[in-house]
Amino acid sequence: MHVYLDNAATTKVSTAAFRAMEPYFTEQYGNPSSLYAFGQKAHEAITEARERIATLLHCEPREITFTSGGSEADTQAIRSAAQWGAKRGKRHIVSTKFEHHAVLHTLESLQKEGFTVTLIDVHEDGIVRPEEVAAAIQEDTCLVSVMTANNEIGTIQPVEEIGKICREKGVLFHTDAVQAVGHIPMDVKKQQIDFLSLSAHKFHGPKGVGALIARKDIPLLSIIEGGAQERGRRAGTENVPAIVGMAEALEEACRKLEENGQKMAALRDRLTQGLLQIPHSVLNGDAEKRLPGHVNVCFEGIEGESLLLLLDEKGICASSGSACTSGSLEPSHVLLAIGRPHEIAHGSLRLTLSEETTPQEIDYTVEAVTQVVQYLRGMSPVWRDLVNGKQPFVIQ
Ligand SMILES: *Cc1c(COP(=O)(O)O)cnc(C)c1O
Repeated sequence: MHVYLDNAATTKVSTAAFRAMEPYFTEQYGNPSSLYAFGQKAHEAITEARERIATLLHCEPREITFTSGGSEADTQAIRSAAQWGAKRGKRHIVSTKFEHHAVLHTLESLQKEGFTVTLIDVHEDGIVRPEEVAAAIQEDTCLVSVMTANNEIGTIQPVEEIGKICREKGVLFHTDAVQAVGHIPMDVKKQQIDFLSLSAHKFHGPKGVGALIARKDIPLLSIIEGGAQERGRRAGTENVPAIVGMAEALEEACRKLEENGQKMAALRDRLTQGLLQIPHSVLNGDAEKRLPGHVNVCFEGIEGESLLLLLDEKGICASSGSACTSGSLEPSHVLLAIGRPHEIAHGSLRLTLSEETTPQEIDYTVEAVTQVVQYLRGMSPVWRDLVNGKQPFVIQ
């Protein structure tokens, strides 16, 4: 059995998106900046994609800048807000400890350039408290950046409340909504979001394309220098097929959002219940306020990496956290942020579903994980000490 349960890392391109892209590789390959009609056809395709995405996310078409993906959108949003702040003598930024590295590393760079950053704590339930965001905002704060849904534990943040606080205090608000767009309803206007990052390959669009939605009265800093594409906000010949595919994928995802969400949440809960039958296991993040297809569990006394390798042998694609941290021996900064001790954070497993996931795959996975955890614990000296009472269990 081949079971793909790593949809938070990337998704399969939908048939509709693939079909929509095809003509822009084969027939309509013109450069959108060319003046002849053949080029203008490509330009029109981009305009149409922009309008479709604007309608789906409730912003104006001109507020959308196409990027190479979520990382670029995060970087551009934060650097643009920092530039806006610096012009006003505001060099303080508020964010959280469990953001994606695209956000955290950009903030680290800005600190070297003289900005100060407050990273607020995340509670054990994986939810940021709006009142703590409010308390962290200072006179010189220019930006608050809080992700909509966490990529490792799937928890959904109170974005609308945070947006309201920021608007009232005259602070810009950015949200990395890469895991949320196409999975839960998003409304840039209603949620009072000034900057929103999204990435197509997380909702069955192609890789290497995303967008930054930015409130129209805030100037964007161009991260890539060159031509005047995207009204001077992002140089480089537009990735026409990918942009068209992204719009198609998003429209499909939003159309089926409720139906797919319900289906996936039911399987997610079945998976969670199955996994929590394993002794000394715990769910990471709130059980309710989470993405419909997202499960992250820690098992005491095992190494997540070994678990992944053995699951791979059984045909299951899973992750221990984010794709970016795998390969490094550091435990996940997200699990540490929600207060899991190092040894527990090492024993994590993230399983993320798609609408194509079947009940058979879920049952097969529960059985496989149960067997593998038991096998690994059987070989582990740490586990022996726990069972013999030489060490106390952390997870009861
Ligand atoms: C995947 C992801 C990103 C990065 O997006 P890319 O398109 O791969 O650059 C950023 N933030 C979150 C929350 C993500 O899940």
